[in-house]
Amino acid sequence: MPSMHEYTEETETLAQSILAFARSRIAEDQPLDHAAEPEELDRKAGRTITPGGIGGAGALRVWAEVLAPATLSPDHPSFLAFVPGAPTKASVLFDLAVSASATYAGSWLEGAGAVWAENQVLRWLADVAGMPAGAGGVFVSGGTAGNLSALVAARHTAAAKTPARGKARPPRWIVACADTVHSSVVSAARVMDVDVLAVPHDERGRLTGSALTTALDRLEDEGPFAVVASAGSTNAGVVDDLEGIARVCGDRGIWLHVDGAYGGAALLAPSVRDRFRGIEMVDSFIVDPHKWLFAPYDSCALLYRDPSLARAAHRQNASYLDTLNAGTDWNASDYAHHLSRRARGLPLWFSLATHGTDAYRDAVERVLTVTRETAEEIARRPELELLMEPELSVVLFRRLSWAPEDYDAWWPRLLAEQIGFVQPTSWEGERVARLCFVNPRTTMDHVRAILDTMA
Ligand SMILES: *Cc1c(COP(=O)(O)O)cnc(C)c1O
Repeated sequence: MPSMHEYTEETETLAQSILAFARSRIAEDQPLDHAAEPEELDRKAGRTITPGGIGGAGALRVWAEVLAPATLSPDHPSFLAFVPGAPTKASVLFDLAVSASATYAGSWLEGAGAVWAENQVLRWLADVAGMPAGAGGVFVSGGTAGNLSALVAARHTAAAKTPARGKARPPRWIVACADTVHSSVVSAARVMDVDVLAVPHDERGRLTGSALTTALDRLEDEGPFAVVASAGSTNAGVVDDLEGIARVCGDRGIWLHVDGAYGGAALLAPSVRDRFRGIEMVDSFIVDPHKWLFAPYDSCALLYRDPSLARAAHRQNASYLDTLNAGTDWNASDYAHHLSRRARGLPLWFSLATHGTDAYRDAVERVLTVTRETAEEIARRPELELLMEPELSVVLFRRLSWAPEDYDAWWPRLLAEQIGFVQPTSWEGERVARLCFVNPRTTMDHVRAILDTMA
């Protein structure tokens, strides 16, 4: 009986069919596809987990014929809902290579080559943001994990400082942010059992240094240990007043974390780079390559100005880890809330190494151009109204005379007809339409087809 860990003739056949399947997914545009009801999947897929197994060919058939079509394609050029993704071919191909190489990227001892390559990418991102030579970090699963890990490092740093300042710990730790901050920051605060100081946003939905000052002064509290600023809010794609916020944080000795999960990629684009002024002063920063940096799921680059503070917060200690912790090696697991880790930065590394950073700059600029053209197109259509000029690549607009129900009926129809995948959102209490661009393959033809459905 051949073991399932041996490479047999059967495995070879399976390799051929899986590679052929993967190749077709990479080479050919995939439809947007639809979600399905669980009962439909039960019926079509049947039982897949059985004592004897259904065989690789059988399982692949179920995946290709039933399950994959019930899985949307965020890299479709008409997928403009939430925040899509648009991995390069090189990044997807190399993701296969990463999977095929049992790489443990938690420690330098086990994963030196992988961690070195990831660190090259992190260094590049740190340079793009203007962070100092000592900056460093790690790739984690997504912005949610990145924000949590950064805030844990921030709180640990503040807690370590309090005795030195001759003060007791505050009764409650507080993280300050705009009331428009991403939901993951509120989730991180809940996990950490800290309070959120939600600071009112300005007319464009941004946190400003002056609003932050007012809110902190009113508090008269030692609790604030971190401020989270957004470098590209998810809902409106606007960048907080990073320079003003950084000044307030610097004056008060509060950790500044910048959440660029979605928008950080736009640091590469000369046309909008000045919106990020002040980012060089961050204590920590994240950007999700699986959003606008053209890498597959799941990947978030997490950077710290002083990685030793993160290490102090996150390093796990145990007898079986003693040898790893004894030296001065760069152990990637020390910089976030995790231990074992996939080398999630490698697909981006390979693609960047392949194409060069200029190609990334151009691809981000191209997305910004289509966004601006979309705003112009909306302004030309009498039934549509732009809510604000896009700052990055999110467009918010209303369809005049539509009620909230009209928006909620609109998007399922578009998906059913495979015209596009969009989602409404709210702006200042009003139901509105939102398009989010990250895919350089999205053209004005894709956009017009969607806007035509609102005529
Ligand atoms: C998407 C997003 C997150 C969460 O990132 P995940 O990768 O989905 O966990 C956090 N912040 C912002 C601004 C985002 O757009």
